[in-house]
Amino acid sequence: MKSDVVLFDFGGTLDADGVHWSPRLHAAYRAEGGSLEYASFERLVQAADRALARLPEIRGLGFRDTIEAEVRLLLELVPDRPRVDAHRMSELFYGEARAAVARNRPVLERLARRYRLGIVSNFSGNLVPCLEELGLARLFAAVSDSSVIGAAKPDPRIFAETLFALRAAAEDAWMVGDNFEADIRAAAELGMRTCWVAPPERAAPAGVVPTARITRLPDIEGVLE
Ligand SMILES: [Mg+2]
Repeated sequence: MKSDVVLFDFGGTLDADGVHWSPRLHAAYRAEGGSLEYASFERLVQAADRALARLPEIRGLGFRDTIEAEVRLLLELVPDRPRVDAHRMSELFYGEARAAVARNRPVLERLARRYRLGIVSNFSGNLVPCLEELGLARLFAAVSDSSVIGAAKPDPRIFAETLFALRAAAEDAWMVGDNFEADIRAAAELGMRTCWVAPPERAAPAGVVPTARITRLPDIEGVLE
């Protein structure tokens, strides 16, 4: 039986090909002359994420402004900040994300005519303005932002709220995402079908086998057929 609801993660799933924000921020930072290795950098990204969610203006920030704010907060934490141009680093990250979204938008537009679509995202409270800026908001019948809901993946409550908003049962829904623990394992444990978006070389963790695996979002149409 065809599932009639498809839920998506946002970061790394709709704005890139299965690569989270942290490694993409690191790539942009290194391209602009930064020297920190990934492990140290990634800890600073987590701190910048927390600071971002606490900004007084966060709820109104669109996608480009969110990236600029995240980069600014991140560069306040790195020891080699003066070497890295914040604007160029933001533009590099933004340009690639924007291109991925532009490529994925027609796919999501086709899916929205056949399925009810939702987003389940660990985000900073401003996912809706980000989706509006990217021309995606009207395609999703339910948008769950962890900072708004008060529960973050893999907490089952954020999935349950999204399914409730769509009047759907877990068995009638797919979850599509790039984070194995937060998106795939959590959704599979609730009885959803799962599609993991990951580069071919990434090893799948043990214990759960996704229903499907793709390397880029446009391949989802073949999975749902
Ligand atoms: Mg993600």
